[in-house]
Amino acid sequence: MDYPDNFDVIVIGGGHAGTEACLAAARMGCKTLLLTHNIETLGQMSCNPAIGGIGKSHLVKEVDALGGAMAKATDLGGIQFRVLNSRKGPAVRATRAQADRVLYKAAIRSILENQPNLWIFQQSAEDLIVDDHRVTGVVTQMGLRFMAQAVVLTTGTFLGGKIHIGLENYAGGRAGDPPSIGLAKRLRELPLRVDRLKTGTPPRIDARSVDFTGLQVQWGDQPEPVMSFLGSVDEHPEQTCCHVTYTNDRTHDIIRSGMDRSPMYTGVIEGIGPRYCPSIEDKVVRFADKESHQIFIEPEGLSTHELYPNGISTSLPFDVQMQLVRSISGFENAHITRPGYAIEYDFFNPQDLKYSLENKFINGLYFAGQINGTTGYEEAAAQGLLAGINAGLLVQGKEPWCPRRDEAYIGVLVDDLITMGTREPYRMFTSRAEYRLLLRQDNADLRLTETGRQLGVVDDSRWQAFAKKREQIEREQQRLRTTWVQPGSEQAGVLEQKTGATLSREYSLHDLLKRPELGYSDISTMNEEMIPGDVAEQVEIDAKYAGYIDRQQEEIERMQRQENTPIPADFDYDSVKGLSNEVKQKLTAAQPDTLARASRIPGVTPAAISLLLIYLKKKS
Ligand code: FAD
Repeated sequence: MDYPDNFDVIVIGGGHAGTEACLAAARMGCKTLLLTHNIETLGQMSCNPAIGGIGKSHLVKEVDALGGAMAKATDLGGIQFRVLNSRKGPAVRATRAQADRVLYKAAIRSILENQPNLWIFQQSAEDLIVDDHRVTGVVTQMGLRFMAQAVVLTTGTFLGGKIHIGLENYAGGRAGDPPSIGLAKRLRELPLRVDRLKTGTPPRIDARSVDFTGLQVQWGDQPEPVMSFLGSVDEHPEQTCCHVTYTNDRTHDIIRSGMDRSPMYTGVIEGIGPRYCPSIEDKVVRFADKESHQIFIEPEGLSTHELYPNGISTSLPFDVQMQLVRSISGFENAHITRPGYAIEYDFFNPQDLKYSLENKFINGLYFAGQINGTTGYEEAAAQGLLAGINAGLLVQGKEPWCPRRDEAYIGVLVDDLITMGTREPYRMFTSRAEYRLLLRQDNADLRLTETGRQLGVVDDSRWQAFAKKREQIEREQQRLRTTWVQPGSEQAGVLEQKTGATLSREYSLHDLLKRPELGYSDISTMNEEMIPGDVAEQVEIDAKYAGYIDRQQEEIERMQRQENTPIPADFDYDSVKGLSNEVKQKLTAAQPDTLARASRIPGVTPAAISLLLIYLKKKS
């Protein structure tokens, strides 16, 4: 049967990518359907109960700056907030929150259910309706046909999902959820490059069976950070602590003794796992001389005894899991509530996508999240938001929005995936961005909210709050530039005491703020107006790093000249004399659309780029 109403956009999958995708399309005014296996699992965290972290909170704050839900849900569900790298520079500072799974899911569900233009339907999508290289709809498990102009696929680890515990394995999308088999089969019939990846999760433990005596305790930071630009500490639920313990020699011996039944080390699992989130058996093999590995014991929520032992993800047989857990200090009598496992799943080569995340071969079909070869909730949310926006723009007959590498970590993520592809689960780090000082978590709103407003994803209340903040920053900067401190004045005396240096001439407050010994709080006393903390932070960072920021801007302008040199589609690299066969092969496989993107493909040398530049200039 055909569903009686047509939609503009259909999003398949209610995970982290899917929820941001459908919310973005709906915020843009598109009539949107979220089709998902189970309404109860909307926004479910499949693995660790935490949002943010290094590189990842940059993505969360960008999603937030563009009106997304992840940061807000984190503020409503976060039970421990910390600022990581707080002693390092602002570029690498990050926010991380431990989240109560139930509260987080409830927040996401409430945001979804209250979003105008968004409709939710619980059914498995089994087939795509594709007509002359254009997707026109989706067929569900019970044969119901939904028609739309654009479809966003965000099926996570579910396509052809296979769960492994020791040498036992069974089909599953994640523990407790069925896999997506019909859709996986259908997608394999389409002209898409598909491969397998794997990821894993630790066993969960009942807190009542843990002896916390002597374990290191870790509380959140004070003042308590917030995740959303509109967030407030008052929204946070009760805060709680984590604990820290360690593996030991005995744990490692037990792990080694179980290797002959490890699906990873006996070749049963073929997919490649996440390099930066390895299983405990991987760590014991790869870092054989390390005597112990740290484990963060994280609460799964305020209303449950379950704990997440972060650091011992494993797919070893259950009897080995039992022994290895009980060999760890504090866990001697631990009761495991859920076994650890690994999951293998289909992912699609992101090089088959355009920078808008639309598929190159099937118009109107967008891919976002884990199915593009990434790992992590934040990476999924960022792609979901972008795919949702671009699906909305397609429906509106507008050009896609493809953020550049110097605009957003979302741009870095998508550019990395599409320009270079990935052979292993990709996660975000600040080191992946070349313009780190510009792409800070603290200025994500200043970088993106105006664009979001133009795209239609930023609502009035966010826009008003942002406009007020931006105006306050500009006003305060102006005041600092035009307020002068005279030598010998009372103000000069206060500052001289702080800096230990004499002010020999008059200085503006802005110039004084550039000095490393002075912070904004030292000069803010010379203002009658109360300046909010986030405004003061921007004013201070901007003054202190102005020189570096200007240099990065110049570099961006240089790069943009290359970025603006297009390479025609189906360009014949064989016709360029002097390019090595290796470079030709790499460029032909990746088909970069600009010279700058060609330059980022590993193995494509600066010399090859100059040859290409000369060739393209001659042709044009
Ligand atoms: P998901 O969150 O998986 O959501 C997919 C959604 O699509 C689900 O709601 C599902 O029900 C729905 N769906 C699927 N198929 C269909 C269909 N045919 N019809 C309708 N609905 C469908 N990340 C890390 O960063 N570090 C880790 O260590 C880590 N370990 C993990 C361990 C395990 C065992 C698992 C399962 C995941 C792990 N992850 C880890 C990954 C993290 O969970 C994902 O990166 C993130 O959830 C991806 O979000 P997503 O929206 O792409 O997919």
